[in-house]
Amino acid sequence: MNRPDMSKYKILLMDADNTLLDFTKAEAQALAEVFIKYNVCKEDMLPVVISRFSEINDALWKRLEKNEVTREYIIANRFKDTFEFFGIYYSAEMGIEEDYFNSLSFQYPLIEGAEAVCRALSENYDLYIITNGTKKIQDSRMAGCGLLPYFKGVFISQELGVNKPAKEYFDKVFEAVTKLSGPFDKSEVLVVGDSVSSDIKGAVNAELDGCWYNPAGKALSKSFDELAERSELSGRKLYEISRLEELLAK
Ligand SMILES: [Mg+2]
Repeated sequence: MNRPDMSKYKILLMDADNTLLDFTKAEAQALAEVFIKYNVCKEDMLPVVISRFSEINDALWKRLEKNEVTREYIIANRFKDTFEFFGIYYSAEMGIEEDYFNSLSFQYPLIEGAEAVCRALSENYDLYIITNGTKKIQDSRMAGCGLLPYFKGVFISQELGVNKPAKEYFDKVFEAVTKLSGPFDKSEVLVVGDSVSSDIKGAVNAELDGCWYNPAGKALSKSFDELAERSELSGRKLYEISRLEELLAK
């Protein structure tokens, strides 16, 4: 896989979590706060409980991408399922989900290099955030992380009423981008993100070039190969980078 030829693009649609913001770290910090507050476990067990929650939560968000569950379903079940797994009493009235929301809203560690890369990119491209998230949380995290000045717009799926990777999500993004950046050709747009199932699949569904941010060097999956094939059929291409700085190379 090659890195993209950046001279072709005018507009970059960038994912937020685990592409620019370190969501794994943010989530662990917020969960540690609430699990300690609610006496869910002793400190030495925190990594185990946090990793179980992450697995359950990630699986639910993957189901949301496929329209199998709603955002409300995720919120009603992720703590419940985690607590049940460890045999801990859970009730929605406990308010843990609200506390988690509040805590997560103020966790916005950046991926290394994200600030410098966004600052440099913003001089040559119109940058937009595309994120599947909850409006209140993402608004607070985007404002807090310091990247907002480099972006012309932020598109949060909850606000748009559709999620990545649906084509309809990108249709709504195109409408807004046309207003903010003026008319553009789809060949001038690049999607950058860490998730094959949401960002890269979304790029393919919307007939845009896609760049997979793969810092861990994960192997290309069968689903990625299928997406690359679909992408080429529509005259588009998929790329891969392991560091955000690769977007700056001429
Ligand atoms: Mg992501």
